[in-house]
Amino acid sequence: MNLFEAVKDAVPTRTAAEHYGIEVRRNGMACCPFHDDRTPSMKVDKRFHCFGCQEDGDVIDFVGRLFGLSPKMAAEKLAEDFGVQYEGLQTWQPQKRPSVISKLAAQEYRKKESRCCRVLCEYLHLLRDWKERYAPQPEDGDWHPLFCEALQKMDDVEYLLDVLFSGTLDERAAIVKEKEKELDGLEKKIAAFSGRGTADPQRDGIPGKARGARLPEGLAI
Ligand SMILES: [Zn+2]
Repeated sequence: MNLFEAVKDAVPTRTAAEHYGIEVRRNGMACCPFHDDRTPSMKVDKRFHCFGCQEDGDVIDFVGRLFGLSPKMAAEKLAEDFGVQYEGLQTWQPQKRPSVISKLAAQEYRKKESRCCRVLCEYLHLLRDWKERYAPQPEDGDWHPLFCEALQKMDDVEYLLDVLFSGTLDERAAIVKEKEKELDGLEKKIAAFSGRGTADPQRDGIPGKARGARLPEGLAI
């Protein structure tokens, strides 16, 4: 059987409705999730029909409507959630196929992680530049605040990038979550220094290049 037939055959709408949190009375009536229904006016059995808003269909229609999915995605979600076997299902895969919803979450996460990497790389580049550029002259001279920041932060940022490039998913996710709120501030700082270059014109009068935007050596993705 193909995906659609197999799902409709294996999963009654009533079972799916209950699985996704809709309370079904013993007589098979439920409050309709598709209109503002105070008294149960939807009959769910193998298929469903609402006597209030006239919504009607099979389990795939029901789940598609409930989660805003295309018929194919709804059928795949049902197959995944209820372990339905069908023709064309790739059973050789050792891992469970991620559900439609967790695929979206994974995409979203990948975006966050790559932003985190990019911003930290740019920041590290800036710190390395500051460490050289603002080293005290003479050696026992006053410390420039940017030189101090470089000394304070470089090891941390290098460590974070190490984990982001070679850590496990759990380790990386912890960093992405922890650093998420700081990224806006760092991006502003990087933009400010990239815009006018990393040189401090009042100090050394060198017109700066936009160095902050470059990835540090060895960290290019
Ligand atoms: Zn209805």
